[in-house]
Amino acid sequence: MITCPHCQNKHINKNGKKSTGTQNYLCRNSTCGKQFQLIYKNQGANPIVKNYVQKALSRNCGIQDIKNIFNVSKPYILKTLTIYAKKIEIKPQKKYYESLQIDEFWTYVGNKNNKVWFLYAYSADNQEVVSYVFGDRSEVTVRKLYEKLSSENISVGTFYTDNWKAFKKVLPEKKHKIGKKYTKAIEGNNNYIRSRNRRTVRKTCGFSKKMENHEAAMKICIYCKNYNYC
Ligand SMILES: [Zn+2]
Repeated sequence: MITCPHCQNKHINKNGKKSTGTQNYLCRNSTCGKQFQLIYKNQGANPIVKNYVQKALSRNCGIQDIKNIFNVSKPYILKTLTIYAKKIEIKPQKKYYESLQIDEFWTYVGNKNNKVWFLYAYSADNQEVVSYVFGDRSEVTVRKLYEKLSSENISVGTFYTDNWKAFKKVLPEKKHKIGKKYTKAIEGNNNYIRSRNRRTVRKTCGFSKKMENHEAAMKICIYCKNYNYC
């Protein structure tokens, strides 16, 4: 009995042969209607493999590991990565945050001379990465994050940061508290991300070669963390 790997429907028609010579099938479920084969010469076309690759990306597996385990090509994995990242959206889960902690850490992108900073706002109450930006380690990047937060239609009671002077220049004084004792939760979260995602490990060799891939991988990482998918 043949079942459709997309929807598990058992009503299947034969549907010609692929250029590789393997039998092609068509699912007769009207809401699915997808084609598939029982044996895939090209593993990337196998919907079961595709699902596993996406899961592996959610768990921040390295591209090289995914390539070896699932026998798919690197361009295929990177394409899956960027398509997956485009489909998901990171939006604040609350309208009001009593407090947000802001901190940053750097990663390499492209080569080991290029550090890219990941600056983000974290809500310790519900362990949520509320918003983030990429940039250099300057006031400009802090402003970018603050403007992004302001555009999110949320209100924030207090911003907690460490003593870096760029925070002081950008965040409204009345709402800003400075001190390492206030940023323990976000520092814990930095460690969590660094331990989960090898792109963010210090001295790593597993960094992204392109900014687009880096942004996609970080988005998936944060999305899965926010929604407990990993
Ligand atoms: Zn189907």
